[in-house]
Amino acid sequence: MQFESYIRDIQGFPKEGILFKDITPLLNNPEARTNCLKVLLDSLKNQKIDKVVGAESRGFFFGMLLAQELNAGFVPVRKPKKLPFDKISASYELEYGSDSLEMHTDAIKKGDRVLIHDDVLATGGTAKAVCELVEKLGGEIVQCNFLMELTFLNGREKIDEYPVFAALTY
Ligand code: AMP
Repeated sequence: MQFESYIRDIQGFPKEGILFKDITPLLNNPEARTNCLKVLLDSLKNQKIDKVVGAESRGFFFGMLLAQELNAGFVPVRKPKKLPFDKISASYELEYGSDSLEMHTDAIKKGDRVLIHDDVLATGGTAKAVCELVEKLGGEIVQCNFLMELTFLNGREKIDEYPVFAALTY
């Protein structure tokens, strides 16, 4: 069973000109979810992972499932002012202006082997900022993985120093 058919295209969301990749049908189907998770896990080829880092908010869903399967810790990277404990932050460029992401300082220990996960790799700004946070704390990035990659936005170029895997490409 293919899981690609469980990703729904929404034209013009959240604004005109964007083709939004909606993963809620995938989240809602256990068989499709299992297949998708297997593809992500297979890409790791049994490499040891200590921490899975998921980007807010759609990186949390499969990020947590991956962490559970890999017997690894799960680390949420969040938008500013959401995390309660000591934190570090990294900024990234948006179409207009910039934004930042935060992570708890005790989330990663020096030398931890880290898998970074998000639903979509678009321009790569988010993933790049997450990589920066992980490396600030001394984590070693084993792979950045995504449910899908929008190849026409060339996000892979921003994170080309790391292994990148996407289960689906558009
Ligand atoms: P970027 O930083 O440009 O690579 O954007 C990646 C982030 O934006 C991810 O966290 C995605 O959830 C979200 N995103 C970007 N483009 C889309 C899209 N077309 N459909 C759904 N989510 C998207």
